[in-house]
Amino acid sequence: MAWFKKVRKPIEPQGKKESRVPEGLWVKCPSCGEVIYNKDLAATLNVCPKCAHHFRIGAVERLRVLLDGDFEEFDRDLRSSDPLAFVDTKPYRKRLEASIASTGMKDAVVCAVGRIDGIETSIAAMEYTFIGGSMGVVVGEKITRAIERAIDRRLPVVIVASSGGARMMEGALSLMQMAKISGALARLDRARLPYVSVLTDPTTGGVTASFAMLGDVNIAEPKALIGFAGPRVIEQTIRQKLPEGFQRSEFLLEHGMLDMVVDRRELKAAIARVLRFGLPDRRPAAAIAVDAVAVAEPAPAAES
Ligand SMILES: [Zn+2]
Repeated sequence: MAWFKKVRKPIEPQGKKESRVPEGLWVKCPSCGEVIYNKDLAATLNVCPKCAHHFRIGAVERLRVLLDGDFEEFDRDLRSSDPLAFVDTKPYRKRLEASIASTGMKDAVVCAVGRIDGIETSIAAMEYTFIGGSMGVVVGEKITRAIERAIDRRLPVVIVASSGGARMMEGALSLMQMAKISGALARLDRARLPYVSVLTDPTTGGVTASFAMLGDVNIAEPKALIGFAGPRVIEQTIRQKLPEGFQRSEFLLEHGMLDMVVDRRELKAAIARVLRFGLPDRRPAAAIAVDAVAVAEPAPAAES
């Protein structure tokens, strides 16, 4: 027997709270501990000025960050009909009502048309505080319509993902949204219009497995959790310790799953640059034809 026993429990590390902006004048950065004045944080787009920790932001604020000014919102009043009359620890209908009351939104995505650095764009931003930003029938339908609107009007598409995945309270119907949105994106591709996917913390499950990874360019915010299954589930399945930084943006960029990791303060400029690059030429057809002839002519052979 040991001479002495540890009676007291070791000091437990303070539980890491969800990194969202709490109410009040001051906010403590969960990453570096810096206490930041709320208004200063708003001025830096909710990025810690000291360590560049990215606080989560809501869908409407996301649109304000990315768009030039006013935007036109679409399909605002679509809401879930609770097709399975689903009940887990409480009825899905009650969950919906509570989320609608707390967010003032009818479901977990806001779809709009606005301008990003002057470029008219069909944009959708997900709201994580609405049942974990989960994708049910309404989210699927709204995003599909946003893509179809882009095809009709010849606009590029930007979708900002922030989601726990498919909405299990809508069962298989929520899984079908993955195929539905992917199908719409294929039509967008055939129409030769660019799609930029922006992945923010967290983007997981069926959203990662469908439209979030289907961008012509996939851009993530720094240190965002991006994955399909959670790290604990994977660890238990493969019985191996996962590497440091697994499922974070930088890790995924290094392993070829993402194209860029961009600080929120530079995100708008980066998206605008990609859109300019990807948008079809809008000059009159005659001007393009002249260029094509110029290209078709063989270049003079170099003298050797
Ligand atoms: Zn910080």
